Amino acid sequence: MIDARVLLVTGGSRGIGAAVCRKAASQGWQVMINYVSNEAAARALADEINAGGGVAKIIQGDTGTEEGIAAIFAAVDQAFGRLDGLVNNAGVVDLKARLDTFSRERLERMFNINVIGAIRCAAESVKRMSTAHGGRGGVIVNVSSVAALLGGPNFYIDYAASKGAIDSMTVGLSKEVAAEGIRVNAVRPGIIDTDIHASGGTPDRARETARDIPIQRPGSADEVADAVTYLLSSQASYITGAILNVSGGR
Ligand code: NAP
Repeated sequence: MIDARVLLVTGGSRGIGAAVCRKAASQGWQVMINYVSNEAAARALADEINAGGGVAKIIQGDTGTEEGIAAIFAAVDQAFGRLDGLVNNAGVVDLKARLDTFSRERLERMFNINVIGAIRCAAESVKRMSTAHGGRGGVIVNVSSVAALLGGPNFYIDYAASKGAIDSMTVGLSKEVAAEGIRVNAVRPGIIDTDIHASGGTPDRARETARDIPIQRPGSADEVADAVTYLLSSQASYITGAILNVSGGR
């Protein structure tokens, strides 16, 4: 087994998560790629990383469920026997709608995945990384959204609120585990050109909103991955509790 640090990326099969997996692997991390349904995308990414001399494995698991989270962390333990980093990236949007139409089912799905799943994955990671639990320290990067600051009016306030929770969790957890060798930071992407917009019923959102973004274009998954891998790296060794906007000024 290679003695290299191990990174778990939830929702690593596509979009921002996949870009993080590629970049982290090229920087020497062994990567566990989590996906929920698109096994082909996860497998193709792992094959690409392994063919390029990196180390990547895949694990199916829904971060919105306890069974899914248990399966993901059991796979990390079995495959690598260590965990040094978590990118809490799995997240969903829903259809564009006003708050006065949100159903309880919609809110439960959104908060199960975006908030409870992220907190539970952070908890399982802290259990493995904290020096207070016999670990050797580590690093967590949460993927929030600039929606947490903008509020998502007339689009998805529930999504914005779920990312506001991620911001609060980032700040609180960073203070809780700083003396235990774990740094916790977040990024707030703006409009990034990925499949997530199609899953929210607005496939052209990235292009259509370009003129409203100060930099006048959507961002790429790669540009977010650059910020995430910086926060993962030793170059960010004195940074914890920070939330970095990667939003073209939005
Ligand atoms: P994406 O292209 O839709 O990809 C989503 C990824 O998450 C896929 O790998 C998907 O797996 C996985 N996933 C979804 N639900 C999951 C679940 N319950 N359990 C495990 N994995 C799950 O999304 P993205 O745009 O890269 O977004 C990634 C993160 O960035 C999200 O947290 C999102 O809120 C945040 N973000 C995105 C933007 C943007 O404009 N794109 C802006 C701000 C923040 P499968 O491949 O198996 O479906």
